[in-house]
Amino acid sequence: MEIFPTALDLVRKQSPERPVAMVRRAAVSVAAQWFQANFKGDVFYAVKANPSTWVIETLRDAGISSFDVASLGEVELVRSLAPEARLAFMHPVKSRSAITRAYFDYGVRTFSLDTHDELRKILDATGNAKDLNLIVRLATSGEGSNLPLTNKFGAQAHEAPALLLATRQATQDLMGISFHVGSQCMRPTAYAAAMSAASRSLVRAGVFADIVDVGGGFPSVYPGMVPPALAEYMDVIDRAFEDMKVHETTELWAEPGRSLVAESTSVLTRVELRKGDALYLNDGSYGTLFDATHAKWPFPVKLVRADGTDAEGELRPFRFYGPTCDSIDHMPGPFWLPADVREGDYIEIGMLGAYGVAMATGFNGYGQTDTVFMDDAPMASLFGLGPRHISTPRSAYDTYEDNKVVRLNRPKGGKRGKKRSK
Ligand SMILES: *Cc1c(COP(=O)(O)O)cnc(C)c1O
Repeated sequence: MEIFPTALDLVRKQSPERPVAMVRRAAVSVAAQWFQANFKGDVFYAVKANPSTWVIETLRDAGISSFDVASLGEVELVRSLAPEARLAFMHPVKSRSAITRAYFDYGVRTFSLDTHDELRKILDATGNAKDLNLIVRLATSGEGSNLPLTNKFGAQAHEAPALLLATRQATQDLMGISFHVGSQCMRPTAYAAAMSAASRSLVRAGVFADIVDVGGGFPSVYPGMVPPALAEYMDVIDRAFEDMKVHETTELWAEPGRSLVAESTSVLTRVELRKGDALYLNDGSYGTLFDATHAKWPFPVKLVRADGTDAEGELRPFRFYGPTCDSIDHMPGPFWLPADVREGDYIEIGMLGAYGVAMATGFNGYGQTDTVFMDDAPMASLFGLGPRHISTPRSAYDTYEDNKVVRLNRPKGGKRGKKRSK
């Protein structure tokens, strides 16, 4: 398999017609090794962040043997690549047949739930199996997270004790408690708050947990979002675990998704047309740039000019449009690129390993990406593989305040279409 040293080599050799996921296996291995060395418990990879075959294989080869799956499709995928892996079905709402097949056909023993109805469903669908590990998912406040996951899942504090007690009585194997502090969580203390709430619920229920699962949410680095060191998250979790009312043998689990894969992948896109400060690309919000549209994240970019000549002019703020005919397919950025960027130029968009390729759809006939392996460094890294910060040319355009990206100085330009027109 060919490995490209730089994006320019790739452009010169292939002049790619479709968007290309430029992937760095080393970034995933290093992140996986870091978590295994520094998290004092079991690391489950949350497959939904990036279900690519190469990711699962790289994690498996780096020693990750546990996976957080949320659908039968993910169960089948991981089983096919890592037959020995331990799978935890951590979606609190599952179909009966998905539970039955996961249990009987794929050996899944760990299931999460946040209601009495789901508990009953799991018991029914497994023929009242006695060897289940049942994990009660608690709601969290979502404080400190850029993409909170609070409304959809999790038992509220007043419901949790009864559910914990019922779950404890339903299994002869392990009973656990879990939560998700929200994705791209910028505050380590969010984990401590959730763990102490979990501890209070356990005390009120009068039961011990065999597993404390702190979920995902570990951040990566993006422009305007530079988190505290990951070691700080580990310290906070260690201390909070010591403060919890649990027994000696209670296991600590985590389910990082984003953090293990975000750095690994850039997407190489091509400029098909320029209109002023708007660049029309061959990738967009129905492709790998979902968060650039819906969370308005200004991902870091680099210009790659096909003939290898240097671009001219100082960096200017641009916005992107994707290839589909839907006006939602717009990424406001700002993305800072040389003033003379033009049709035929390629743009490498960094930090798209998590929730990038995973989100692509086939809408309007677009959405297919090719994958190539790279051996250059990620655009930024919390694991020492690249710069820890992504600097933006005019630091005044963004400040990081109270975990929100505040845009002080929006780039001027045409109207921002809010309405859909297909
Ligand atoms: C999405 C998800 C994760 C991973 O979250 P990240 O923010 O990507 O780390 C972990 N656990 C569950 C239950 C999830 O739904």
